[in-house]
Amino acid sequence: MERVKGVTLSFTDYITERYGKGELAAFASALRPDAARVILEGPVKSTWYSRDLYFHVLIEFARRYARGNPSHLMRDISSFSAERDLNSIYRFFLKFGYPGYVLGKAAVLWQNYYDGGKMEIVAKEKNGISVRLIDDVYLPYSCDLILGFAERATTLSGGKDVQVAHPVCKHKGGPHCDFSVSWT
Ligand SMILES: [Zn+2]
Repeated sequence: MERVKGVTLSFTDYITERYGKGELAAFASALRPDAARVILEGPVKSTWYSRDLYFHVLIEFARRYARGNPSHLMRDISSFSAERDLNSIYRFFLKFGYPGYVLGKAAVLWQNYYDGGKMEIVAKEKNGISVRLIDDVYLPYSCDLILGFAERATTLSGGKDVQVAHPVCKHKGGPHCDFSVSWT
């Protein structure tokens, strides 16, 4: 069974910070019991959880907070995760002044969140990088999660005028998902 690391389940920190502890309990009450327990207690960041549990929470999260714009919500929570993680447990991925550094580690970074799917670099230039996600299972939400994370990681590394794009998408008929990031 494929899994995700606890750090991927940033819902607990995000909901608590954005909406407060009371809202966290309300959200958890809509989840199945095993997921509710993890979200209420707060996931252990370095532990692996089932991908099935993750998808369940992600879908319920979108249902409750997307307000008609899941893309915006997904980018916001992944931007939040990037800020939290790249300033704490994954600090070593960040090299200020070198946005290409963290993005160049995309494949390894991916494995620190998910043990399914594969992320690879397809092109790398001085002020830009393109990465590819190869996976058969991920939900369309993943595309915005990746874009939000990449954008924030680039900004945290000191990149300016950050642009992200998603020119090829498996969920729109493409063979895989390609993402590109550029900065000045
Ligand atoms: Zn996509």
